[in-house]
Amino acid sequence: MAGKLQEVVNKLKLAFPALLLLSAACRRESQVDPRIASEIANIQAIDNHAHPVRPTSAGEAPDTEFDALPVDNLEAQSDPARVRSGAPEVIEAHQALGMKARPPTEVLDKLGIGIMVANRVAMGSGLPPERFLWVPYADALMYPLLNDAMIHNPDQKAFFALEEKLLKRYYSESGIAARPATLDEYLTKVVQGTLERHKQGGAIAEKFEMAYLRPLDISNPTKSQAEAAWSGRGDYKALQDYIFRFIATECGRLGMAVHFHSNAGSGSYFNIAGVNPMLLEPLLDDPSLRRTNFVFLHGGWPYTRELTALLTKPNAYLDFSNQDLYMYPAALAQIIREWLEFVPEKVLFATDAYPYSKDLGWEESGYIAVKTGREALGIALTGMLRDGEISPGRASEIARMVMRDNARRLYRVKQQ
Ligand SMILES: [Zn+2]
Repeated sequence: MAGKLQEVVNKLKLAFPALLLLSAACRRESQVDPRIASEIANIQAIDNHAHPVRPTSAGEAPDTEFDALPVDNLEAQSDPARVRSGAPEVIEAHQALGMKARPPTEVLDKLGIGIMVANRVAMGSGLPPERFLWVPYADALMYPLLNDAMIHNPDQKAFFALEEKLLKRYYSESGIAARPATLDEYLTKVVQGTLERHKQGGAIAEKFEMAYLRPLDISNPTKSQAEAAWSGRGDYKALQDYIFRFIATECGRLGMAVHFHSNAGSGSYFNIAGVNPMLLEPLLDDPSLRRTNFVFLHGGWPYTRELTALLTKPNAYLDFSNQDLYMYPAALAQIIREWLEFVPEKVLFATDAYPYSKDLGWEESGYIAVKTGREALGIALTGMLRDGEISPGRASEIARMVMRDNARRLYRVKQQ
């Protein structure tokens, strides 16, 4: 009898391949507790990291300030399968968002994002401050000398040219015409001046894309070592490290966090070994930097387990932006669950919405990341609930913490 039934089912499946797909979809859905899924879907999120593009009017040049190092300058890499043109996720994003260009606030409404933390060189019209918080870039300040010796591939050639251009802008905004004679003068007039201007402009953090330029091993040089390099007689890396520590200390004083790009990045030359967050452990352990909060953007992939351990340091935070674009929900859920089982109050939701290409704009990449991130969080919390690690009440609380409340506390956000 059972054999007969199986035969009928098999025949049906042959006749209706769609049934197979449907049953696979049902299995996937059941991984998330329906109550948790609906709670997560209804939270107006704070997106900890993204690159919204500013709309420009006819005749105005297109926006290029969504990144200090735009990726269209990189040599092509082998893109992850999920974001290739024609991938089901990309097609779904286009269908959901439609063809017409929407104002950025409307995109946020569509994605269920209350506030987006915009990592941009500058803000501007179309990105209102009640919906978009600003995180500018501080890398350029670390490279005030000739950078030729640091360039080892075509991508870095493009990056350093962009950083040198941005440093020129910081000089001119600081009212300084040429490189000052002393390091002290550079630190107070250009570095401190720029950070204070950013803070006054509404910045909640400074972003470092350091791993695109050099490894993250930041030492603790003396001032005289840094000054020797400033006057052309010493080690340039010592000067960079000294300036970084100055910036990190100032960020703590000004109440701004320090954001690190912390995963394997874009481009075919990205130094994956150099982005290992363990390289930053001495900084996290430095008593003089304990007033500064460090946020590991993109959750350190592939070093996600290293970050689980680092998350126990009082001033370490992370988000899972970009992983929710490149990874499928089940795989991301495993990573998120490990973090939530350790330090749930320092795990932040984020998208890294970015204008990757004509086919994958910041709206589409944001859509995929929001959907994947919400689903992965749902799978992680459902697993913890079913394994008896947390109560239903605690699952709701952690959902709100990750989607919104942790970021609200970290940046002292009053809105929402
Ligand atoms: Zn980013």
